[in-house]
Amino acid sequence: MDVVNTVAGFSATLEAARARGATVGLVPTMGALHAGHRSLLVRAAAECDHVGVTIFVNPLQFGDPDDIDHYPRTLPDDLELCRAAGAATVLAPPVAEMYPDWPGPVPTTVSVRGVSDRWEGASRPGHFDGVATVVAKLFAIAGRCRAYFGEKDYQQLAVVRRMAADLSMPVEVVGCPTVRADDGLALSSRNARLSPAERAAAPVLSQALAAGRRAVAAGEDRPDAVAAAMAAVVATEPSVALDYAVAVDAGDLGVPASLADADAVRLLIAAQVGPVRLIDNCDAPRPAPSLAGPLETAQRTAQRSAQRAAQRAAQVATTAPDGHNADVHNARTAD
Ligand code: AMP
Repeated sequence: MDVVNTVAGFSATLEAARARGATVGLVPTMGALHAGHRSLLVRAAAECDHVGVTIFVNPLQFGDPDDIDHYPRTLPDDLELCRAAGAATVLAPPVAEMYPDWPGPVPTTVSVRGVSDRWEGASRPGHFDGVATVVAKLFAIAGRCRAYFGEKDYQQLAVVRRMAADLSMPVEVVGCPTVRADDGLALSSRNARLSPAERAAAPVLSQALAAGRRAVAAGEDRPDAVAAAMAAVVATEPSVALDYAVAVDAGDLGVPASLADADAVRLLIAAQVGPVRLIDNCDAPRPAPSLAGPLETAQRTAQRSAQRAAQRAAQVATTAPDGHNADVHNARTAD
C-alpha cells in the first residue's frame, strides 16, 4: 500500500492504475477509522481493482471550531486498517495541499441547493457546501471511479449523488449500509468523545428510529405522528437533546403530506449528546398492500356475475308468453 501526501501523487497513481486496465474505487474519509469505514473499504476492494482512500479532516465543512479541534486523529491505526482492508493507495494531505490559501478564503465552492437546505443543512449552515466542495475536488483528483459513501450520513449521500449527476462527474456513487455497535448505536468517529454515561444514553437514537419504523410498518401515514413516536423515545433520556426526528421522502428528503405519497420513506434523527452531535437514519417500509382486498373484490364480482346470469336464466324460464314475469325476485340475492 502506498501512502502519499500530495494531490498530484494520488492522481498519478490512480491514473496509472486505470492505464493498466484496473478499475478504481475511492473511499473518502476524515480518518479515525472504524468498522463502518472498513465496510466501505472492503466493499470497494471487492468491486474494484485498485482502491484509493483519502484521509482528510476537511476544515471547510466544520462550523464549530470546538468540533474540528477535538476531531480524533489516529493516522497510524488508520493506515493499518486501510492496509488490512485491501486499500492500494492512501492520500493523507496537509490542509495547504487541498486549500493553498487556507485559512484564507476558498473562492470556488460547490453548493447543491434543495437537498442541502434542511435538517443537517439547516442546523449546520455551510456544512454541505464544505462537503460538496471537498468531494468535488476529490472526484476531480481521483478521476473516473466508483466512490463509496455510508448511508450513515444519508443527507450527505443524497447531496453527493445529486452533485455528481448534475455536474456530469465520471463517478458512480455507491451507498453502503450503516454499521452499528451491538446496542444499535451507529458507529461514528465522534463516539470516542462520549463519556461512559453519554455512551450509555446514545443508543436512544436508534431506539427512536426503531419506534418510528414500527409505526410506519403498522400503517401510520402521518409524518407528524411518526415524528412524535420518535421524539417520545428520545424524551426518555433527559441527557439527550433532540434536534430533529422526521419522516421524509427518501428521494428529496422533504416531508410529504402523507407518507403514502412517498415512493420510499426515510427516518432521520439528530441529537446532542454531551459534547457530540449524533445523527442516524433508517428506511421505513410501509405495510405491503394486502392481497386480501383485491382478491375479495374479484370474488364478489364473480359472485355477482353468476347471480345475474342465474337471474336472467330464471327470467327467461318464468316469462310467460304474454310477457308477464313470474316472481323473479326469488332468483335474486342481495348484492
Ligand atoms: P467520515 O470519516 O465521518 O467523513 O466518514 C467517511 C465515510 O464513512 C462516509 O461516507 C460515512 O458515511 C461513512 N461512515 C461513517 N460511519 C459509518 C458507519 N457507521 N457505517 C457505514 N458507513 C459509515
